[in-house]
Amino acid sequence: MPDSAPQSGLEPAFPPSRDRLAGIGEDYDVVVIGGGLAGLTGAKRVADSGHKVLLLEYHSQLGGLATWFNRKGGHVFDVSLHGFPVGMVKSCRRYWGSGLADSIVQLKDMRFSNPQFSLSTTFDQRDYTRILTERGSDKSQVEAFFEALKDPELLNSRFPTAAAFIDHYFPGRNDVLRLLFEPIAYANGSREEDPPASFAIVFGNFMRQGIFTFQGGTDVMIHKMTAILRDLGVDIRTRVRVDRILTVASSPGGRRQVTGVIANGRTIPCRAVLSNSNLKSTVFSLLDSHQGVDPLFIEASEAVRLNSSSCQVYMGIRKGESISGTGDLLFTSKDPEFRSELLLKPDTSSRTFSFYHPGIRPRPDGEARYSIVASTNARWEDWEDLDRATYRKRKSELIEATLQAIETHIPGVGEIVDHVEAATPRTIERYTLHRDGASFGTRPDGLAVSQALPNHISGLFHAGSVGIIMSGWLGTINYGVLTADRIDQYLVGTHPRQ
Ligand SMILES: Cc1cc2nc3c(=O)[nH]c(=O)nc-3n(C[C@H](O)[C@H](O)[C@H](O)COP(=O)(O)OP(=O)(O)OC[C@H]3O[C@@H](n4cnc5c(N)ncnc54)[C@H](O)[C@@H]3O)c2cc1C
Repeated sequence: MPDSAPQSGLEPAFPPSRDRLAGIGEDYDVVVIGGGLAGLTGAKRVADSGHKVLLLEYHSQLGGLATWFNRKGGHVFDVSLHGFPVGMVKSCRRYWGSGLADSIVQLKDMRFSNPQFSLSTTFDQRDYTRILTERGSDKSQVEAFFEALKDPELLNSRFPTAAAFIDHYFPGRNDVLRLLFEPIAYANGSREEDPPASFAIVFGNFMRQGIFTFQGGTDVMIHKMTAILRDLGVDIRTRVRVDRILTVASSPGGRRQVTGVIANGRTIPCRAVLSNSNLKSTVFSLLDSHQGVDPLFIEASEAVRLNSSSCQVYMGIRKGESISGTGDLLFTSKDPEFRSELLLKPDTSSRTFSFYHPGIRPRPDGEARYSIVASTNARWEDWEDLDRATYRKRKSELIEATLQAIETHIPGVGEIVDHVEAATPRTIERYTLHRDGASFGTRPDGLAVSQALPNHISGLFHAGSVGIIMSGWLGTINYGVLTADRIDQYLVGTHPRQ
């Protein structure tokens, strides 16, 4: 029997209430489970095609991992707004309109500080070529490397792993591996042993023009998206947890077909479901029955590995105080050599700091506020079983280590931080229901299963972080659109309009 209990043993963040569904329609063409970026964009796209859509989100606000929170002292923190490739401008313009796309701006100053090098970069091909050649690489070799990035599929047939690909062009250069790979390991949980294409596509996307952000913050972006969806007539309900996706066998022993969902204890009929919930939760917790589903598909779904998780430390700078000269992003580590697995250790010295200042995160009230968010990659296993006291202690240690680390870059900053708190893999699991607090959904093997889902259960579609390419803000927005178009084809094919 599928199990939908929260795994961390904590009380649910949002206890269910039937009231949240008051006044909903009798049935829908599409129920979207989850209001992450893939769910929101998918909902918009199917609504654009004229379908009747209900979007159900477990959290009290939309955005999924692309969310924010407010704290006493006037602090506003973004959970996952560190940076994305320039492709977001095009995707946002095409799928959400200029009102959103025009707020996307470039981050100009990314920094590295580690035992191998300290440098500042605009994180694009031109600047990386400069850095690599200044650090002793042959210019023709650097050019050949960038040329190779253009054909990721070919790379997969030539090299077993991303690390082998990099080593081919820069043999024995662990410093170059760090320069190329460390930001991507943070951007989407990539590991050296991943297929070269998954590194090449994401790294190549960034190298086109650098790193971009949404000026004004996640709250502004999600409020704009919500308004657009409401205008299109999408029925949006928050604090609603979907417990089951209901299916029937179309004939005895035949293929299962979606008939509705159960959410907050209520049955809601629908013709198709777009699940933005974690892929494994969709198949193993939400789907009501595996009867009649190809056992090989279930096996393949079981084999899908979840991506790693992460910890964050949020630091709010006191009103009236400021920080300067930090750059926008800082990749730091004390490890003498780079290995992506070291990034996952509980006591890792490797951290990324994002600096938020009024230039990139202006506030509607015009107040000039600053904050810092530190991220470390993390493993669910290192946090899942801690009792309450140990969990608190480990969080305090994480905060302490982070404050010490930032102090070496901004001396005296501890004096002006007036709010600090930590989030762990358990926080992510609790608020987004992602199994094992997976920050980036599944490892690359999830993509094939996600795409095959509707071939095995009619009317059940998935969109959201899977693999490396279909994760992050850009990947999930694009995946939401791809999936919505498949849903439209399905609905038009199976339920032609009168
Ligand atoms: C700390 C952190 C930093 C990141 N930084 C960046 C970054 O700088 N740039 C970048 O591009 N990406 C970043 N990412 C990744 C990016 O945020 C995600 O890949 C992306 O937002 C995921 O979108 P999604 O559509 O897959 O849905 P998610 O954001 O995972 O949302 C899924 C939604 O479904 C809801 N849900 C799940 N199950 C149910 C249910 N049963 N009923 C109702 N609702 C349900 C959840 O509550 C959630 O709101 C970061 C991620 C993390 C964790």
